[in-house]
Amino acid sequence: MQCNKMISNINGIGFPYSGERDRCSVDYVFRLLDQLRNTLCGKGVFCRDAASQLYSIVGSIRGGEGKSGDVGLIREICQASLQLADCEMTREAVKEILSLLDTDGENWDAHITRRRCPSLSCESLTIFYIDPAVCDGCGKCTDICPESAIDGSPALIHVIDREVCTRCAACEPVCPVSAIKRADVAGVPPKTPDAPVPVGSFKAEPVRKGLRKGLRP
Ligand code: SF4
Ligand code: SF4
Repeated sequence: MQCNKMISNINGIGFPYSGERDRCSVDYVFRLLDQLRNTLCGKGVFCRDAASQLYSIVGSIRGGEGKSGDVGLIREICQASLQLADCEMTREAVKEILSLLDTDGENWDAHITRRRCPSLSCESLTIFYIDPAVCDGCGKCTDICPESAIDGSPALIHVIDREVCTRCAACEPVCPVSAIKRADVAGVPPKTPDAPVPVGSFKAEPVRKGLRKGLRP
């Protein structure tokens, strides 16, 4: 059976990968596979199974649970898909994945062996925090948080409860002053107040050497 779906049928993600816009190739491949699974016609058993297996493996890597043989397994499935897939869309997608494993292997290795996402794109490998030097206490983030993980009142520096935060990222785009930031989950946690305090009253510690690397503006 041949299916006539093309990679242009995939919506909601740019293709091919663009380093700056897509930041992390692991996160990009995860989103690409998610779109692929949802776009496949479903009649080709091989395409469907390969996309689903790849999605599960890359999802584990993105979630900080990758294993040492994962990249080899991804390669094997992609190579087999090049031979056996029923549609050009799947072949294009796996060619892209193979290319990213070759050109951005260090990033994949960081996720698997060090459980780190260098660009802080993969939410499970980051923590979300509010920069106390930037927050102006407007309260927009508390309204949007589905977990009620943000504490604060008008004119107080808001604080994210990291135990409650699910890293959904919903709060990031609503902050008008970009005070909601990400840090490396495996790095030194950024210094923030334990509870909301008046805006301007929190004295930030000078940034320690090495911490800045784990922060995403
Ligand atoms: S990342 Fe999601 S859960 Fe965490 S504080 Fe922001 S909106 Fe709430
Ligand atoms: S983090 Fe941003 S959105 Fe939330 S209260 Fe502070 S300034 Fe407002």
